[in-house]
Amino acid sequence: MDHFNLRDGAVHCEDVPLAEIAAAVGTPVYVYSTATMQRHARVFRDALGGIDDPLIAYAVKANPNKAVLATLAREGLGADVVSIGEYKRAIAAGIPAGRIVFSGVGKTAAEMAHALEHGLYQFNLESVEEAEMLSAVASRLGLEAPVAFRVNPDVEAGSHPKISTGSVHNKFGVPIGEALAAYGRARELPGLKVQGVAVHIGSQLTDLGPLRAAFTKLGELIGDLRKAGHDISVADLGGGLGIPYDPALPPPPSPLDYGRMVAEITADWHVRLVFEPGRMIVGNAGVLLSEVIRVKPGAAAPFVVLDAAMNDLMRPSLYDAWHAIDPVTPRGSEMTANVVGPVCETGDTFATGRRMGQVQPGDLIVFRTAGAYAATMASTYNSRPLTAEVLVSGNNWSVVRERQDIEALIAADRLPPWLGP
Ligand SMILES: *Cc1c(COP(=O)(O)O)cnc(C)c1O
Repeated sequence: MDHFNLRDGAVHCEDVPLAEIAAAVGTPVYVYSTATMQRHARVFRDALGGIDDPLIAYAVKANPNKAVLATLAREGLGADVVSIGEYKRAIAAGIPAGRIVFSGVGKTAAEMAHALEHGLYQFNLESVEEAEMLSAVASRLGLEAPVAFRVNPDVEAGSHPKISTGSVHNKFGVPIGEALAAYGRARELPGLKVQGVAVHIGSQLTDLGPLRAAFTKLGELIGDLRKAGHDISVADLGGGLGIPYDPALPPPPSPLDYGRMVAEITADWHVRLVFEPGRMIVGNAGVLLSEVIRVKPGAAAPFVVLDAAMNDLMRPSLYDAWHAIDPVTPRGSEMTANVVGPVCETGDTFATGRRMGQVQPGDLIVFRTAGAYAATMASTYNSRPLTAEVLVSGNNWSVVRERQDIEALIAADRLPPWLGP
């Protein structure tokens, strides 16, 4: 459920007409709904109702805007970060260091040192080699690093290959068969406090089966680790719960079903559970608002050329992702169209042969469910400045990221001395 609804014949975000934002800020622009983010944070927390004191560490990479993070910080969420940039954003937005989990396969010594010095809940280590580096950094600083190993349970997530992470062929985690040895090694290393286990098998999962299989394997590992004398007090179950994009497809499992499954499997684990939801918190809380530049005739269907492009919203070209595309002010008739951006790539195609509301040049459209893995993946390809972002709350709205200034973008380039001043 979200708060982007038709009211008086035009799509609003909460109480604000999207056309008002487009007129003031220009297009393309991302628009986020506070009420939707709050709702999802609460739905997720309520779904874990039976679980004692879970740490819900929002996966910052889904949408790292500081205003988004500050909204979620007020809901009591922590952060799952995968770079020191994300760590600094989370701190800047008011997320307590003690609620930050540091994930990622390539943490550098400098990143480890910064997080150690400023505090965090846990490092999720992805290899013995990483444990050795962290041990050296922590020892040098005279600090102790709380750690878990992310294990790779070798289950097929059943999601798009580019967002599946839990098979032996992926770069992520310690293969579960080698986990006991990895924990044995970590125990010998100075500066590490081995406290947990972690797993994350992929994103946009639309079936609980792979998650259930992964958690079951993790539970067995906890037993084996305890038998080997390790004190395991934390289990991080990652993120990955899918959300509805295409209303024609069956809905993904509900947070409630997920919560029940987790409660059942973890009932006798006696650990603090950590969760890292990203997409399910912010995905439906954002839209990308764009204007139709022109409608160009095509062989099979007309091309609706937008002022948004693949550099603003990469998911369709990167993952073949499907986003609903709706006119902001529906005209009451439909068309079949190829929806494209102005970038000089055939991949700059958002939809092919799409049945959608009729649009004309100058009309506004929205890409729905564009709150996650959208603005944050934008680039300046084709020298297109990064898009503005707006946050709505009730009848208030505010620019939470300025549109990038094209002159500033160009000025960041430098001429070498031999090419001029
Ligand atoms: C991306 C990621 C998440 C969040 O995944 P969602 O599908 O957005 O919930 C959680 N944990 C880790 C380690 C990740 O890389």
